[in-house]
Amino acid sequence: MPTLASKDLCCGCSACANTCKSDAIKMVADDTGFLFPLIDTEKCVECGLCEYSCPALEKPLSSKDAVDPSSCIVQHKDDIIRYQSTSGGAFTAIAEFVISEGGVVFGANLEDDVVVRHIAVENVQDLEKFRNSKYVQSEIGDTFLQAKKYLTEGRKVCFSGTPCQINGLKKFLKKDYPNLLTVDFACKAIPSPLIFKKYIEFRSKKSGDIKRVVFRDKKRGFSFCTLACYKDWQQQKKGKSLYRRGSESDEWLRLFLRGYSTRLSCTSCNYQDCPRVSDISLGDIWDTTKITPKMNDNKGTTTVAIWTEKGKVCLDSIREKIRFYYYPFETSTWVKPRKNIKIPNYNRAQFYEDAKKLPVEKFFAKYAPNSLKVKIKQFSRVLIWKIHLHNIIRQCKHFIIHR
Ligand SMILES: Cc1cc2nc3c(=O)[nH]c(=O)nc-3n(C[C@H](O)[C@H](O)[C@H](O)COP(=O)(O)OP(=O)(O)OC[C@H]3O[C@@H](n4cnc5c(N)ncnc54)[C@H](O)[C@@H]3O)c2cc1C
Ligand code: SF4
Ligand code: SF4
Ligand code: SF4
Repeated sequence: MPTLASKDLCCGCSACANTCKSDAIKMVADDTGFLFPLIDTEKCVECGLCEYSCPALEKPLSSKDAVDPSSCIVQHKDDIIRYQSTSGGAFTAIAEFVISEGGVVFGANLEDDVVVRHIAVENVQDLEKFRNSKYVQSEIGDTFLQAKKYLTEGRKVCFSGTPCQINGLKKFLKKDYPNLLTVDFACKAIPSPLIFKKYIEFRSKKSGDIKRVVFRDKKRGFSFCTLACYKDWQQQKKGKSLYRRGSESDEWLRLFLRGYSTRLSCTSCNYQDCPRVSDISLGDIWDTTKITPKMNDNKGTTTVAIWTEKGKVCLDSIREKIRFYYYPFETSTWVKPRKNIKIPNYNRAQFYEDAKKLPVEKFFAKYAPNSLKVKIKQFSRVLIWKIHLHNIIRQCKHFIIHR
């Protein structure tokens, strides 16, 4: 029987399941709701290929195509695309370029059953499915196999995902493909699909039937991103939300940011060292004043690290679609080693036990209570936003730095 990564190290990338030619590996959710491989001993022929493709069993890969890394900040010129994206919409500009060359783009989509899955798209209209971060682990399914098929047919492929998913993809592929472009991001951690399901049930009871969630909605500006819930796509497009709250009070964001719902492998993540195995990495930059004040408009900006020649060519090819500004890599956040998320001092087993047993109202009241302190924080944040005080604070900061 093969020995795959232990439960605390397995990142759920599904490289093993995509590798097995005997269909002996299924990705199955455990009590925490995260997917782990389950091996069918009857079908396994002990070829060992799954072990060979597991990124958690050896040191993370490094890229063969690496160049001296560079960094820039990016904003998509299309305001709607930028509004719908988490930060500056750099990902859409990259993906549009790949599609314009006849390529296929893979990314994470929140599907109609409110589950996040990786899918492939081949036209620019469908790229909206990938916009905005989904703070839930995405199911890879058989997308590594699909990507390999397109690559061997000679089509351009852009694969986006968490740094561990990109490591898994590369281990699965085993060789470099000149027609593959990989994009990952600065990754805090990945939360549990089971707790997200509970959250949807909880929120639907309180605010109405929810089918769409925007984890980083910019209605109140980039600096006051809120989690917004919608009845469906149409209501989302009209901006008619059933619910909207920021990270100071929303139950899902609070559990995510405090590390309660995190996958265990994220606490010892070593997929985010410099340089990375991806061609391009993306992240949020909250304040661009120190780099260039001109781009600091509170509508969202992506910080981009370019690790390889392919990444460089891609950024050069999208110049017409974006506003950008290159700055010294050494001064960027990409050089610093990433700090692993800390698991808070709580009883993890009890947390997941409660998630199964308690009614959702009681579960969220226990782990993310809507206390007086939380209500005051929420009230003051909304008030500051309503009287435009955040703009005044931003302008004062700008004045102090540049006087
Ligand atoms: C779980 C998670 C944690 C993050 N943590 C940080 C952080 O700590 N610091 C930071 O600077 N940035 C973080 N980011 C990245 C950041 O939020 C933006 O995705 C990034 O700035 C790119 O923004 P954009 O506007 O260019 O693209 P966007 O339009 O936001 O593109 C989103 C891209 O992310 C992919 N994606 C979205 N959700 C998932 C998912 N669940 N699994 C895999 N891929 C996904 C999409 O396929 C698409 O390629 C995180 C993103 C996620 C999904
Ligand atoms: S050892 Fe081979 S047959 Fe068995 S699960 Fe792994 S890949 Fe499949
Ligand atoms: S290949 Fe990925 S999913 Fe499979 S055991 Fe390794 S880390 Fe886990
Ligand atoms: S923190 Fe690391 S292990 Fe966790 S999802 Fe992100 S890249 Fe994967």
